[in-house]
Amino acid sequence: MSWDFSTEPEFQKKLDWMGEFVREEIWPLETLGLDWDQLRKAIAPLQQEVKDQNLWAAHLDQELGGQGYGQVKLGLMHEILGSSTLGPLVFGCQAPDSGNCEILAAVGTDVQKKKWLDPLLSGEYYSAFALTELDNAGADPTNLTTTAVADGDDWILNGHKWFISNASTSDFIIVVAVTDPGAERHRRTSQFIVPIGTPGLVVVRDIASMENTAPRPNTYGSHCEVTLENVRVDADALLGNVGDGFLIAQKRLGPGRIHHCMRWIGQSQRAFDMLCERATYRFAQGSVLGEKQTIRNWIADSAAEIQALKLMTLHAAWVIDEEGTAKARKDIALIKFYGGKVLHDVIDRAIQIHGSLGFSSDLPLESMYRAARAARLYDGPDEVHRDSVAKAYLKAYSPPPNNVPTQHIPTRRAAAQERFADLLAEIA
Ligand SMILES: Cc1cc2nc3c(=O)[nH]c(=O)nc-3n(C[C@H](O)[C@H](O)[C@H](O)COP(=O)(O)OP(=O)(O)OC[C@H]3O[C@@H](n4cnc5c(N)ncnc54)[C@H](O)[C@@H]3O)c2cc1C
Repeated sequence: MSWDFSTEPEFQKKLDWMGEFVREEIWPLETLGLDWDQLRKAIAPLQQEVKDQNLWAAHLDQELGGQGYGQVKLGLMHEILGSSTLGPLVFGCQAPDSGNCEILAAVGTDVQKKKWLDPLLSGEYYSAFALTELDNAGADPTNLTTTAVADGDDWILNGHKWFISNASTSDFIIVVAVTDPGAERHRRTSQFIVPIGTPGLVVVRDIASMENTAPRPNTYGSHCEVTLENVRVDADALLGNVGDGFLIAQKRLGPGRIHHCMRWIGQSQRAFDMLCERATYRFAQGSVLGEKQTIRNWIADSAAEIQALKLMTLHAAWVIDEEGTAKARKDIALIKFYGGKVLHDVIDRAIQIHGSLGFSSDLPLESMYRAARAARLYDGPDEVHRDSVAKAYLKAYSPPPNNVPTQHIPTRRAAAQERFADLLAEIA
């Protein structure tokens, strides 16, 4: 039997290196307010250092230029990198590019791989993924209305996409569009590579949001409104087969969701460290905060929740490594909604213990808190994941005979009395 929670010493050394690198080299960059061009210049030498350490694009197989570590190791890495929104970017495994790499690697033709995957992998290109529509397809992507109509060998795309992360700083967008409106719900859509600059493709704006109330142009991490008006792409733009759009999206979202959860462990841990640090020195009504029972409860609850999130995430990662993403669906859905709550609650307690300082922008907690709110929405809202978890569990259950609960004590007693009648007579 193998049930092992240890980390190989060699890999632990890499994790230790990453921990220091993220704290010393990446965290300081967060404070500078760099725009996208400045940020790219600032992180280029760090990205090179990561490549030199053979830690670049760890999510991908070796033949694709990644490290082939698998999801468990990636989970341990993300726990460190996720402490900063810039961490995954410096290590070449940031969303949505990591998921887009996986799509291109899985279904891209040789031409598509050369043209789009290689520069995406090397960090030369960046990309976005456009599924959501303001008026139609969000939590239920089968409601999609963006269309792609064949015109000779070309496709003509029309639609209105919403909240497309990084579209304004990308080189291309993978767009999901309806290619066969009459087909079965899950076979209606296909995916297309649409280069930025294609006539008719307009990134209308970076949408102001809780995460960024006043977005500046050319900023990494914005969420954009995008319109497509008679956008013409050639046959090489189609990813996979016509009708495979939903299938490919599902493939992409599985690992994508767990990668978010991995990063949330890092964010939660960073907030937890701040919570504990404050508990050691802030003095109120006769003692430091760390001696108050409420604060100790917060620390204990946060530690337990982060540990649970970590174990659930690594377990789901292990299922993916052992049996594939499809088998891990329930486990991924479980941590997607549970992780979002842990992330929120731990950051919330860290803000509370810092009082007004926690609420201020002099600490990263308030922006972490605002970003954490989105975790309950993106890649499927909590309600949808709860629903699919409940559905998966309910499959194992059926109504009991005559709708009498299996554990009904009078019924069980009557059955036991009948079964043990001789024994009961003897011991009476
Ligand atoms: C920060 C951020 C980044 C994003 N990045 C991208 C991106 O890069 N590309 C992209 O395509 N999209 C992106 N999205 C969009 C995201 O995927 C959607 O917000 C999400 O799928 C929910 O869709 P919706 O916002 O249209 O909400 P709706 O579909 O309108 O749902 C609204 C609410 O209805 C309820 N609900 C929906 N379905 C059910 C159900 N079955 N049972 C019970 N209640 C239900 C839930 O409470 C849900 O929150 C991003 C969103 C955010 C917040």
